[in-house]
Amino acid sequence: MAQEYDVVILGGGTGGYVAAIRSAQLGLKTALVEKGALGGTCLHKGCIPSKALLKSAEVYQLAKNEATHFGVETSGTSLNFARVQARKDEIVNQLHNGVKSLMKKGKIDVYEGTGRMLGPSIFSPMPGTISVEMNSGEENEMLILKNLIIATGSRPRTLPGLELDEQQIMSSDGALAMETLPKSILIVGGGVIGIEWASMLHDFGVDVTVIEYADRIIPTEDEDISKEMKKILSKKGISFAVGAKVLPDTLKKTADSITISADMNGETKEFTAERMLVSVGRQANVEGIGLENTEIQLEKGFVQTKSTFQTKESHIYAIGDVIGGLQLAHVASHEGISAVEHIAGQPVEPLDYTKIAKCIYSSPEASSVGLTEKQAKDQGYDVKVGKFPFAAIGKALVNGNADGFVKIIADRKTDDILGIHMIGSHVTDLISEAGLAMVLDATPWEIASTVHPHPSLSEVMGEAALAVDGKAIHM
Ligand code: FAD
Repeated sequence: MAQEYDVVILGGGTGGYVAAIRSAQLGLKTALVEKGALGGTCLHKGCIPSKALLKSAEVYQLAKNEATHFGVETSGTSLNFARVQARKDEIVNQLHNGVKSLMKKGKIDVYEGTGRMLGPSIFSPMPGTISVEMNSGEENEMLILKNLIIATGSRPRTLPGLELDEQQIMSSDGALAMETLPKSILIVGGGVIGIEWASMLHDFGVDVTVIEYADRIIPTEDEDISKEMKKILSKKGISFAVGAKVLPDTLKKTADSITISADMNGETKEFTAERMLVSVGRQANVEGIGLENTEIQLEKGFVQTKSTFQTKESHIYAIGDVIGGLQLAHVASHEGISAVEHIAGQPVEPLDYTKIAKCIYSSPEASSVGLTEKQAKDQGYDVKVGKFPFAAIGKALVNGNADGFVKIIADRKTDDILGIHMIGSHVTDLISEAGLAMVLDATPWEIASTVHPHPSLSEVMGEAALAVDGKAIHM
C-alpha cells in the first residue's frame, strides 16, 4: 500500500522520535519507521539502562562500604544482580511505553519494519520514497514523502580479530544483558563508555583492567579531568594500561578466560580476565538503507550533511549518530528538532556544538562544555584558568564525597568563557549552569555574581569563577 506524508523519519531512536513529535506539533503529516524498539539505542542499549546499572552499583557501594561512615550500620549487605537487571528493565519498559503513547498522542503513524530508500520511481520522480519491509511479514508499505529524515543511529564497533560473541567478548550491548557478573574483566577502550563500565563493574565488585590506546583515558576531555579521573579510579582499585595497543593476534580464549597482549612502547604486556568488553567507538547504520539510490555522500562512514542537516539531496535530511560528530542523545534530538523546523520553513540557527554539555556518569562523574585548555591555547587564546576543589565546599563534605574540582577557562583579553570542565559527585547536573553561561556568553564575573545557595554543590561554580581572577573566597 502507498501512503503520502509531509515528513517520514527513518529510525525511531532519540533523534527520530523527537523529530517526529516536533513535526506533528508543526502540523506536518508524519510517519516514523522503526525496525526494533521505539527509543533506539539510548533507551534500550545506552543512556538509560547503563545509568540504571550505575545507580545500583552506587547504592551497593554506599551500603557496603560507605554507610558506616555516616553512622549507618549495614552489615550483611549483598548484591542481587538479577534484581539489579530487573530494575533496569522496569525503567526501560516504563519509558518505552511513554514513547509509544507520545506517538499516539501526536497522531504519528509508526511503521514497525525496516525502511529502505528507493530511487526515482513510479511513486515519485525524487529519490527517497521509503519501502518498508514490515516486521509482521505483511506486504511492504510504500511511503511517498515530501521530506525524509535519516535517523538510523549507530552500533558498536570492534577491532579486527576481536569478534564479538556478546558472551565472553562483549560490546556494551552484550554487557547490558549480562545475567551474572564476571570475577574479572578487560575493558578495551578507555573512552566515555569504557570508563562508565569500568566504574560500574568495579563498584559491583568486579576486578577491572582498562586498556587504552591513547596516552590517557577519556582523551577527548581536558587533560586535568583525565588525570583526576585516572587518579580517583586507580585509588579505588581499577587497573589501567594507557598507551597500550592491543594485539588481536595474541587473543587466547578458554571456557572461562581471555588472554590478550598489548604493545606498550615496544614492550609486550599480557592481560587475562574472565571476560572482555570492547568499547572502541561506534559505526553508523548506513547499510541497506538505499543510499546507492541517492546522491547522498558518506564521510568516514557517516552521512554528510550541511548545517541545516540536509544531505546532497536537499529534501533528505540526516541527524543523530548516523552523521557522526558528538554522538549523544541530546544532540540527536536537537538535530532532529532543527531539521524538522527547517523543513517547516522556520528560521533555524546552526547548532553550536561548542556549547553543548557532555557527561560521563562514572563515579566520580565528569562533565564539560566548550574548549579544553589545550584546544583554547592551540586556537591562539591567551587563557586564564580558575579551579576550585569540592574539598572546600561544605555540601560536598556533608554528602561524604569531596573528590574532584571545577575548572573554568576564560579568554584573558575579552573575559569570554571558553570552557568549563568538572569532575566529582553530581557534576552531570551542575554542568547545566555552565551550559547556560556559555549560551548567554556570560563572563566569570557574571557567574560569580549569581548568588549560589548555601550549602549547595553549586557554590563550586561561583568559587571557580572567582578563582579565574584569583579571588576565590574559600581557598
Ligand atoms: P539510535 O538511538 O541508535 O536510533 C536509531 C534507530 O534506528 C534504532 O532504533 C534502529 O533500530 C533504527 N533503524 C536503523 N536502521 C533502520 C531501518 N533501516 N529501518 C528502520 N529503523 C531503523 N548519550 C547521551 O547523551 N547520554 C548518555 O548517557 C549516553 N550513554 C550511552 C551509553 C551507551 C552504552 C551507549 C552505547 C550510548 C550512549 N549514549 C549516550 C549515546 C546515545 O545512545 C546516542 O547518541 C543516541 O541513541 C543516538 O540517537 P539516534 O536517534 O541518532 O540513534
